[in-house]
Amino acid sequence: MIKNITVLQGDGIGPEIVAQAIKVMDKIAEKYNHTFNYTYVDIGGCSIDKFGVPITDEGIEKCKSSDSVLLGAVGGPKWDSVDPSIRPEKALLKVRKELGLFANLRPTKLFPQLSNASPLKQEIVQNGIDLLIVRELTGGVYFGEKKTETVDGELVATDIMPYSEHEIERIGRVAFETAMKRGKKLHSVDKANVLDTSRLWRKTMHRLSEEYPEVEYSDILVDNTAMQLIRNPMQFDVVVTENMFGDILSDEASMLTGSIGMMPSASLSDTTLGMYEPIHGSAPDIAGMDLANPLGTILSAAMMLRYSFDMAKEADEIENAVNKALDDGYRTGDIYEDGFEKVSCSKMGDIVAENI
Ligand code: NAD
Repeated sequence: MIKNITVLQGDGIGPEIVAQAIKVMDKIAEKYNHTFNYTYVDIGGCSIDKFGVPITDEGIEKCKSSDSVLLGAVGGPKWDSVDPSIRPEKALLKVRKELGLFANLRPTKLFPQLSNASPLKQEIVQNGIDLLIVRELTGGVYFGEKKTETVDGELVATDIMPYSEHEIERIGRVAFETAMKRGKKLHSVDKANVLDTSRLWRKTMHRLSEEYPEVEYSDILVDNTAMQLIRNPMQFDVVVTENMFGDILSDEASMLTGSIGMMPSASLSDTTLGMYEPIHGSAPDIAGMDLANPLGTILSAAMMLRYSFDMAKEADEIENAVNKALDDGYRTGDIYEDGFEKVSCSKMGDIVAENI
């Protein structure tokens, strides 16, 4: 198969980690007789420096016309004081909007080899954590009407949290379909005891659940979910929720693994075009030192193969190659413990590629 991939390396450690993912993808291409063509587009601070905007319109067009997008990370102290309208993160919101990326999939996996890195007690995490949060990405309070006005002599701010039935239904379908491909268990998170948007959310999910009788479906309130993630994260397989709840819960879940450098993510549209990126930022403190952990980006590339290119076998192969690198005792600095072999970012990329 021939696939055209737009590569947004970004800032800080972005170019270093993306280079490792491409090394691994090239090995897959060689082994399985695929052709991956890469088009590099500037995003974030490096684009602000060159073009005065965090991504150009031509850059967006390149993303739209490709089969998929691989992103490193954007931002850094150099651009912290630029005008808010051109901040590096603005480029991410623009790409999400222009590509119609409404579903964010964040697997949270605690590799048993790294269980010491989790802040939770060993008896809770000894069998690993393996859950996936499906977050609605383009609706809700982040995109609703906002205003700050003076009422009776004081400032009053309002953020509206709208959700329409079709927005809930399309994210619900992604969640049920994802659950069908995993452990066939789905928790839908809401605040239906208080919010109208949540009551519509719940009603729509219940309707959908009738189409997926094989999926064990439950409703759970967001406050209880925050507690249960700490108390017993193993009870979850797939968790679906709206934009703001998902933003908060997915960060909480990723911290359970204690290793931000390991976590991939996918943002999907209603076509096969998606954007794949590690969940961490541009790590300016270690940029350019060949110290970063590239595994989150490499696992994001595996998600690209699985979700955008329907290459499940190739995706499994990358995930197994990462597992083997950990089993063989290789660790980047962020996940290093005594008794293991500390390796650089580029060396870790080499090792994973060699395992394929
Ligand atoms: P960060 O995720 O970049 O770094 C937090 C800490 O984790 C740092 O100590 C860093 O060294 C470490 N870290 C992160 N990724 C690592 C990896 N792969 N390997 C080893 N260690 C790693 O978060 P931050 O410091 O809050 O933000 C830095 C910049 O990144 C900011 O400009 C922020 O706006 C931006 N950011 C971008 C994204 C994105 O592009 N999606 C996401 C979050 C933050």
